[in-house]
Amino acid sequence: MELDHGFFKIAKAAGIEIAEHSAVSSIDVGESLVKTIAGDYFRYEYLVFADGTSGFGSKLQVPKNRNIAMQILFQADIEDKIDIHFGISKRGYGWVSSYHGNVNIGLTDIYDRDINYRDLFGEFVKTLGMDIPLDNLYAAFTPIGVGEPIINKNIYYAGDALGACDPFTLSGLRYGLESGRAAAHSIVENKPEIYNLFAKSLKRRFFITRSMQRAFYLEPILFMVFNIGCRFFGRMISSVFNNFFVNKK
Ligand SMILES: Cc1cc2nc3c(=O)[nH]c(=O)nc-3n(C[C@H](O)[C@H](O)[C@H](O)COP(=O)(O)OP(=O)(O)OC[C@H]3O[C@@H](n4cnc5c(N)ncnc54)[C@H](O)[C@@H]3O)c2cc1C
Repeated sequence: MELDHGFFKIAKAAGIEIAEHSAVSSIDVGESLVKTIAGDYFRYEYLVFADGTSGFGSKLQVPKNRNIAMQILFQADIEDKIDIHFGISKRGYGWVSSYHGNVNIGLTDIYDRDINYRDLFGEFVKTLGMDIPLDNLYAAFTPIGVGEPIINKNIYYAGDALGACDPFTLSGLRYGLESGRAAAHSIVENKPEIYNLFAKSLKRRFFITRSMQRAFYLEPILFMVFNIGCRFFGRMISSVFNNFFVNKK
């Protein structure tokens, strides 16, 4: 919330008008016109969908797999740390991070509609030996795969709406910011190729991390990494995981 508010203030200070408590409810691509739930119409020269994985813009893209990510935030007197837990969900991981008494417990998985994720989260919390109410449990989807960066020449996609989120680690903030910058650059220069190239490089990068995700959660690989690797090369494995799941975010 603090980060969002920080961006909100930057946008306002730059003179951008923000329609709060509103949402895009329909679009006329031919007329370059969007309508909001408040019934207002906006004509656009360019439209940038930065409305997340399941926002309105996703209706104009081909549907893809998604990760689910859940977290709960609370205050507790726990030492500062970030722990990553594997084996909680089938194709994802759990985390416990605490900083100056602000604790964040979370869980991610490749979304499977047959799994009751609330129950799974509850079990995870229990294995941590904690007893916390799950009333404020928050869940959202993050994308797997990069979509079309530009449609109809003047509709751009940025952030999760584009798929600018690493499917393996769920690192989305840095890629979201990079995609926003690249989209702005492309629009200002009137050069769609700038953004198409950016999306292509992201696609290549995430193709690799998606392949790593597919391989990593196979049982023999998990066994080798945790039962053999950690026993003999613990330090090396720990530094690789720190790099991927903590530092790179
Ligand atoms: C539990 C969880 C933990 C995560 N942890 C990390 C992490 O540690 N590090 C990291 O880098 N990334 C993390 N991510 C991923 C990261 O949060 C996302 O990649 C990032 O927030 C994407 O930003 P965004 O602005 O593209 O989309 P969002 O943050 O999803 O914002 C989209 C916005 O669009 C609005 N919107 C939706 N529909 C409409 C509509 N019809 N009209 C108008 N507005 C609309 C929404 O209200 C929302 O404000 C995490 C995600 C989750 C869910």
